[in-house]
Amino acid sequence: MAVSYTVCPNCNRVNKFQTNKQNPTCGACHGNLDYHEGVTQLSTEQVQKLIAKSPIPVVIDFWAPWCAPCRTFSPVFSETAVELAGQYVFVKLNTEEHPSAGLHFNIRGIPTIAVYQKGREVLRQSGAFPKDHFVSLLRGTSSSNSIAP
Ligand SMILES: [Zn+2]
Repeated sequence: MAVSYTVCPNCNRVNKFQTNKQNPTCGACHGNLDYHEGVTQLSTEQVQKLIAKSPIPVVIDFWAPWCAPCRTFSPVFSETAVELAGQYVFVKLNTEEHPSAGLHFNIRGIPTIAVYQKGREVLRQSGAFPKDHFVSLLRGTSSSNSIAP
C-alpha cells in the first residue's frame, strides 16, 4: 500500500492519499482528487505548491496535446508512475492549458521531465525516452539524495 501526495483541484489543499484507492477524495472539501493511473494533472501554481510541501520527490511531465513526442512518452510516464507509486509523486502539467509553466519552470522544449526534491530541482531531461532509461534516471536521483544532507 503506497501513499502519495497531490493538490486538490477544487480547494488547492495539499492532500496525502492511498494510491490503491479508487477515486481518492480531498480530506478538506471531499472533492475528487482526479488521480488516475498513478498520475494527476495540475496547474503551474498547484505544482509549485506540491513541490514545496511534498516529502517525497515530485516528477513533472511538461507536455502539450499538439506535441507528438509528448504523446509517445505519455504511456511510458503512466507505466512508470504506477510502478513507482509511493516513491515519487507523478504529475503532468499541460503547458498549453497552463502557459505560465514555461516561464516559471524555464521550459525550452517539450516533453521535459523535471524532478524536484524538498523544493529543489534535482533532475531535468528533455525528449521522449524508453521506460528503462526513465527508471534509471529516477533511481539515480534517489541514491544521490540519500547521501546528501
Ligand atoms: Zn479540496
